[in-house]
Amino acid sequence: MSVMSSDKVLPLDQQERKRTVPELLFGDLWEYAPAPENPDFVEYKEQYGHFINGEFVKGKDHFPSVNPATEEVLSHFASADKKTVDSAVAAARTAYETVWSKMPGRERAKYIYRIGRMMQENARELAILESMDNGKPIKETRDVDVPLASAHFLYYAGWADKLDYAFPGATPHSLGVAGQVIPWNFPLLMAAWKIAPALAAGNTIVIKPAETTPLTMMKMAEIFQEAGLPPGVVNVVNGAGATGAAIVNHPDVDKIAFTGSTDVGRIIQRALAGTRKRLTLELGGKGANIIFEDAPLDQAIEGVINGIFFNQGHVCCAGSRLLVQESILSTVVTKLRHRMSSLRVGNPLDKNTDVGAINSKEQLDRIAELVQSGTDQGAEIYQLPCSLPEQGYFFRPTFFTKVAQSHRIAQEEIFGPVLSILTFRTPQEAITKANNSPYGLSAGIWTDKGSKLFSIAGALRAGVIWGNTYNKFDPASPFGGYKESGFGREGGLHGLLPYLDLR
Ligand code: NAD
Repeated sequence: MSVMSSDKVLPLDQQERKRTVPELLFGDLWEYAPAPENPDFVEYKEQYGHFINGEFVKGKDHFPSVNPATEEVLSHFASADKKTVDSAVAAARTAYETVWSKMPGRERAKYIYRIGRMMQENARELAILESMDNGKPIKETRDVDVPLASAHFLYYAGWADKLDYAFPGATPHSLGVAGQVIPWNFPLLMAAWKIAPALAAGNTIVIKPAETTPLTMMKMAEIFQEAGLPPGVVNVVNGAGATGAAIVNHPDVDKIAFTGSTDVGRIIQRALAGTRKRLTLELGGKGANIIFEDAPLDQAIEGVINGIFFNQGHVCCAGSRLLVQESILSTVVTKLRHRMSSLRVGNPLDKNTDVGAINSKEQLDRIAELVQSGTDQGAEIYQLPCSLPEQGYFFRPTFFTKVAQSHRIAQEEIFGPVLSILTFRTPQEAITKANNSPYGLSAGIWTDKGSKLFSIAGALRAGVIWGNTYNKFDPASPFGGYKESGFGREGGLHGLLPYLDLR
């Protein structure tokens, strides 16, 4: 019996799905041949220190960065202590006072534009390295991470000479030295979100990549050097939380921009309370993807897949809570299982892979623990019955039905390929449930009615709301959160404001 014929939800193990025409015709023969990208194409060093004052400098206390798909060590990175952070901040201060703040915007624009162009020229190498260091599928690094990161530099280059005209009645001034700390889920893209607007506004930078994904930041440092960016304008220090804290607490830093977990965001906000430093926090999320019964369902299912399985669900704005109108629950669940059956999980460097590796063993354990809590608290689990590579950190695409609002899987950020499905009957119930979260970063609304879409969007407490689509990004569009998802905006004109003093 097919669940399509009834709106009564059967237990998942009793549900059958209709076989597609290709499956009926070809059965198991309908397989993709491997199409791996060639990792021999890229070059990287066995050991990295830091990038300070335009030079690659040696460091100490090295730690390994591992390819999460193979568990092989890619390279070793130094940990910057307070003294190293001091020298990076001093280089940034000198560059700010002697060169960058004095340079006309039209000249700064040329460097920023050149960086964006050089990212395009080196796109293939950056995409492969990002995939190897992070575990993301190559088709995403190739089609999303690298082009979008480059687009941010090109976009903000366009602002550098127009600042004087952008804020009528006020004169914009740069702030000084910006300290920036970024996470591992989009290493290049998060670096671009931070570096491009800061440079356009006339600030200099000390940035720290995440300890599990520092490789492409060092490649970016090569690009800065080759682009002729004046020494000290961008400095990169490697290391873990202690290095990040040394940047945050440094007395000669004027602005802190942090993207990462809400827990670390809290520590940083406490540390900066009462100081003169400016702060923006881009933190976690638990986005609600809401499907009404009048929605174009096949399109909505694509949005659900993209919303939770893009980048293995390591996405702050992931649509990790699916709110489905009760009357269409069984249809949505059936269609979702059907669509999931065509997801290919495995080698991130294979161009056919849809879901790659989980970034670290630590993150894999956290996902497994939260998934176990879902089962323990009474939700019903479905996991794609695919084979996983024997080596590496992989997790099956998963969803839960019979989820209650109080379950941990409905409240906590899982940051993995795990979807929690809840239901609602009325638009008001959808709004109440969507807003029942400590986070407020993103949401999606699927409906045939434009007026309904806008009225629901107006009632949601989320910084980014997509209508009949999900996970769409553009450098000209601001991004940021409410509540425990942080404050401050990145992207667009709004993304310049945190780096400017308007007087
Ligand atoms: P994390 O908070 O553990 O680490 C983020 C960065 O902070 C890393 O570089 C880390 O080394 C550094 N850090 C750790 N402790 C620190 C301290 N005490 N002081 C200063 N720096 C410190 O987060 P993560 O696990 O790397 O990233 C995942 C989180 O990032 C998720 O919660 C996700 O939602 C969030 N995120 C948010 C956005 C957004 O725009 N809102 C974008 C991407 C990721």
